[in-house]
Amino acid sequence: MIERVAQSVARVLKKIEQAAIRSGRSPEEIVLVAASKGVGIAQVREAARSGVAVFGENRVREGVQKFFVEGQERFSVHFIGPLQTNKVRQVVGLFDLIHSIDSLHLAEKVHQEAEKRAIVQPVLIEVNLAGEISKQGVSVEALSRLVWEVGQLRHLSLQGLMVIPPVTPNAEGARPYFASLRRLGTQVGIHQFSMGMSSDFEVAIEEGAKWVRVGRAIFGERN
Ligand SMILES: *Cc1c(COP(=O)(O)O)cnc(C)c1O
Repeated sequence: MIERVAQSVARVLKKIEQAAIRSGRSPEEIVLVAASKGVGIAQVREAARSGVAVFGENRVREGVQKFFVEGQERFSVHFIGPLQTNKVRQVVGLFDLIHSIDSLHLAEKVHQEAEKRAIVQPVLIEVNLAGEISKQGVSVEALSRLVWEVGQLRHLSLQGLMVIPPVTPNAEGARPYFASLRRLGTQVGIHQFSMGMSSDFEVAIEEGAKWVRVGRAIFGERN
């Protein structure tokens, strides 16, 4: 099992490098965020030894219990899932980047906590590109206003935009969404993007992704 993680990481890193090169980008620009939901700390350590520098957790409780145990070695961890305001206190200052800011209300809560701790919390704004009712994310129409508002909050550092596109039959199906996030970003002066998962991270890199969030291609299928 552990050997498989090392091999998977090597394969994913190779694909990242190739996708970067064929799109005229430097592989070093791209950050592999290994989505580690449902994965134990032993596999996390193996992934880290194999070259994963950043992990991504989408549930507060699981992420905190796995990564922020006293006496345990520290990893860089991003918060990539939906964030409820009542969980903000547990996330700010621990997770190096929050990918899922999608309202002024949530941004203000994160800001408040960051201010209390006298830190600046790096964040991304999540965009609901296809207007899916079931999905998190700010609407395309409301994006530029939220970008401006988050920019006013001194204890937040807005680093980019994030998207989870609708499920598509293949990786190429996701390309228009990635391209569209990039165009939107250009309109609001943002040039870094968290996009692409196991099924489509190479396409996301071709369309300008900085962070790719990859779970299954590293750790195998989840139960
Ligand atoms: C689980 C997860 C991923 C990774 O998905 P895979 O299909 O396993 O690569 C990416 N982003 C978020 C927000 C996730 O929860």
